[in-house]
Amino acid sequence: MTPDTDRSSADEELSRRIVDLIARGEARSRSELAAALGLAPSTVSLRVQSLLDAGLLDERGEGTSRGGRRPRLLGIDENSGIVLTVDLGGGHARVGAHSLSGKLRETRSIPVVLADGPESTLDAVCRVFDELGRDTTIRAIGISLPGPVDIATGTVTQPSRMPGWPGFRVVDHVRQRYGVTVAVDNDANLAALGEHRAQFGATGHSITVKAGTAIGSGIIVDGHIHRGATGAAGDITHTRIDGSGDIPCSCGNTGCLETVASGASLVRQMRERGRTDVATTVDVLALARDAEPEATTIVRTAGTHLGQALSGVVNFFNPHAVFLTGSMSASEPFIAAVRSRVYEACHPLATQQLRIEAAQTRADAILYGAARWALDNLELPTA
Ligand SMILES: [Zn+2]
Repeated sequence: MTPDTDRSSADEELSRRIVDLIARGEARSRSELAAALGLAPSTVSLRVQSLLDAGLLDERGEGTSRGGRRPRLLGIDENSGIVLTVDLGGGHARVGAHSLSGKLRETRSIPVVLADGPESTLDAVCRVFDELGRDTTIRAIGISLPGPVDIATGTVTQPSRMPGWPGFRVVDHVRQRYGVTVAVDNDANLAALGEHRAQFGATGHSITVKAGTAIGSGIIVDGHIHRGATGAAGDITHTRIDGSGDIPCSCGNTGCLETVASGASLVRQMRERGRTDVATTVDVLALARDAEPEATTIVRTAGTHLGQALSGVVNFFNPHAVFLTGSMSASEPFIAAVRSRVYEACHPLATQQLRIEAAQTRADAILYGAARWALDNLELPTA
């Protein structure tokens, strides 16, 4: 890395933190920013100016003076454009339109068939983008894909999950059409980023587990996605669970977390007990909500297994929070079981301030994360 790219990435990082502090209402003027960031006012002013020039921030009157000149108040320019996002899933895509502070203003859902390949899927999504962006300026686009992604090239890296997609340059394809920043990542990372930024802003550490039909997780370190050496960080689903039996897993091993705690495994367990009326994770959760004894036990046990897998991670990584998203996060007995296993199995120092709770961004976590990721990648003029 050359010193120049070092400096520009430091500039970008500072821009992110400035936008974040203002969007969260934690700073309203240059002097409050300088105090919050522990930086010289001149450094902050330079960055603020380029954010004003880029139309991300605006000035809105004067605040009260604490001696000297009255500070000019800063805000996010909510009218200078939108960020568009999409959460591509197996059978449908959720599309979002966000303000430049990342707030979700509007969502649409459309059916998509990923197996039809990237061009027809993305064309369907772009038609919705066109509608949502019709009367405004599209400033950036964030795309969530349901599988491992090489974020440098914006391509899918695992053929098994999305036939026809590997090698296709998602970022280039969409950027060609709109000529704006396009940022891509996988759903687990973006859910983690969306929930983390909503709760903690651009600092702090957390893990977000998406527990639905499958289990995935994303790791946030100091407010940023931690991807690991090969993009595999957070792949908690193949953690071996002691005493889980020897059920074969999709990865070729046996006894993985996926085989005992995923929604798919809950359905399998219910059907093995003769409940052939159970077809989906939601069916199992509905039975558990009605206090059906077998479903309740199975859901609790799944929570305990996830808690077991997480306890090693929590001891080692010492996050501020573990957030749960996906259909199973709607089940309080599931979350309670995760929580009690983690607290029981972890060193008290690691759990002293730890929060384990359902994500507050709920089903929109991925869209929020995609918007933040796109905004983080927005090309800003460097001062
Ligand atoms: Zn496995």
